[in-house]
Amino acid sequence: MTTLAAKPQQIETHKTFELLQAKSAEFNWVFFVVIAAFHLGAVAALFTFHWSSIVVFLVMWLFGQNVGIAISYHRQLTHRGFSTPKWLEYAMAVCGTMSLQGSPTYWVAVHRLHHQYTDKPGDPHSPRDGKWWSHMGWILHGSLHSETAMLSRYAPDLQRDRFYQWLAVWHWLPITLIGIALLVGGSAGLGGWKLGLSWVFWGVFLRIAIGFHVTWLVNSATHLWGSRRFKTRDDSTNSWWVALLTGGEGWHNNHHAHPVSARHGMTWWEVDFNYWGIQLLALLGLAKNVKVMHLRATPGDRTNYGPSGA
Ligand SMILES: [Zn+2]
Ligand SMILES: [Zn+2]
Repeated sequence: MTTLAAKPQQIETHKTFELLQAKSAEFNWVFFVVIAAFHLGAVAALFTFHWSSIVVFLVMWLFGQNVGIAISYHRQLTHRGFSTPKWLEYAMAVCGTMSLQGSPTYWVAVHRLHHQYTDKPGDPHSPRDGKWWSHMGWILHGSLHSETAMLSRYAPDLQRDRFYQWLAVWHWLPITLIGIALLVGGSAGLGGWKLGLSWVFWGVFLRIAIGFHVTWLVNSATHLWGSRRFKTRDDSTNSWWVALLTGGEGWHNNHHAHPVSARHGMTWWEVDFNYWGIQLLALLGLAKNVKVMHLRATPGDRTNYGPSGA
């Protein structure tokens, strides 16, 4: 079965939005060049090894992937699983831009579209259209990138916000400035320009390239392989290794059953670092209205969300 809507009769029956993820006739060369450049930079990183670069990598990973993509883009902005003061919401969204996966508005709209049509016509990246398609084919061949109708329908809350309007244009700026800061900091500090370059290759290129694939695995692997606690009307699975790589996003069947829950791991062994981060914010009084799904919930039952114990 294909979820791509290219036939006229499907367009008639499903109206507008299935059109948006139709396979584009044109290969997206701009995205290809950007993605290829980051992969080349990732290889270059291996030739510029320095112990301090590992630290730069890990810190940038923590802020770019865990805080930025998982906690901010996914659990807060897409699903509103918790709320924070605006200054913190904006700061964490800026962390998300450092993973170069697009602006918060774009990312949120595409992901909400995925939840609305999971593994059905309209899903932007279902493995039912092919494993390669769900991993990165949809980015290189898809036609979702500048669909203003899709953005206003699926992320109107972010589109109304002046800060997110600004980030929609300038989302590439924070990581560019940080890249320059790493280059200058490494060069001016301890080890000259070679160390500066090493910090850039590890903190920006290698980290972003691996971050791409780790995020894409949630779209591909956790709709293909793993276990299913909930009998959701899609192919979503729980995958321990994707969960380890992403800090908890791999408990994806739990998540599709209860998308609003800020907690994705349901038992002590379903490790969910990103939820620990949200709990830490709650302990500090910075996260409120933390919605948590309890295991006794039945699929589709949204009534037993409650404030977290944090
Ligand atoms: Zn999914
Ligand atoms: Zn989600």
